[in-house]
Amino acid sequence: MKFKPCISENDLPRSFPPQHQDVQPGIECEMVPRPIYDDPCYIGCGKLKNKVALITGGDSGIGRAVAVAYAKEGADVAISYLCEECDALETKACVEKYGATCRLYPGDIRSEKFCRQLVQCVVSDFGALDILVNNAGVQFPQPSIQEISPQQLCLTYEVNVFPLFYLSQEALCYMKEGSTIINTTSVTAYVGNDQLIDYSSTKGAVVSFTRTLSQTAIRQGVRVNGVAPGPIWTPLTVSSFSADYVATFGQETPMGRAGQPYELAPTYVYLACRDSSYVTGQVLHVNGGTMTES
Ligand code: NAD
Ligand code: MG
Repeated sequence: MKFKPCISENDLPRSFPPQHQDVQPGIECEMVPRPIYDDPCYIGCGKLKNKVALITGGDSGIGRAVAVAYAKEGADVAISYLCEECDALETKACVEKYGATCRLYPGDIRSEKFCRQLVQCVVSDFGALDILVNNAGVQFPQPSIQEISPQQLCLTYEVNVFPLFYLSQEALCYMKEGSTIINTTSVTAYVGNDQLIDYSSTKGAVVSFTRTLSQTAIRQGVRVNGVAPGPIWTPLTVSSFSADYVATFGQETPMGRAGQPYELAPTYVYLACRDSSYVTGQVLHVNGGTMTES
């Protein structure tokens, strides 16, 4: 077997061409450079064999990298996303390249009805649901709390928080012992962000949701954990921050650079598989060295 060379620290960008996309969700295939989502040195070994995973926001960014790593580990993958068809098709192709089945479920997870139907469709199409990754999210930076409109506040909570309740409620009707729920929170829940007061507070809600749900879900053998990324090079970055901010994105971290989506994926694999069998109610921090108290 021929191995591709590993990605080294020196290969990873420490700054970016200034760029901004006007519409959220952003489009990954328009980013320069493209985020790195598939680590050629990550070789799966069947950790998720015969599992079915539903990943919200699985078309792009962190969710896409998780979908690819799950496929390498033998899982079949259901991808929920709002409307980014070309990104979703690219993710599907990559998942299928690793021999897994991938189905796409476009739709707005702000709708409770859609969330419930999404879980029901996945169970009906795949025959089970073992892993739910609540990963979709939006953010709308503002210079101060005064600029956060009621509409923005509602939208941010409707995408980042409420679907976690609808999807987890529905998923727990079908999940068996050994299943897992993994929620994407953020370093901003711990250290704040002066442009993202509303977003940071939704991510704080995700942390508390993770901790509290873990206490009841374990009664049916389901573990619930979270991942708190630092600054990661994804469509969310270029569709929310200004072009100037994007150029130096991540340089404030101790490692001096933004993370790439592939660097998050092994943590989501760990939390989904038996390796983390004694871990629930926890948040793992993948953030380039920022110290958090959790
Ligand atoms: P991304 O844009 O690739 O992913 C976000 C996804 O959310 C989109 O693909 C979109 O399909 C989905 N989405 C948005 N609104 C939706 C809606 N109404 N209905 C259905 N789906 C919807 O960006 P990402 O950075 O990979 O984001 C994934 C998660 O990571 C988010 O929860 C984000 O808050 C979190 N996060 C990102 C960073 C970062 O720096 N990129 C840092 C910390 C946390
Ligand atoms: Mg997307």
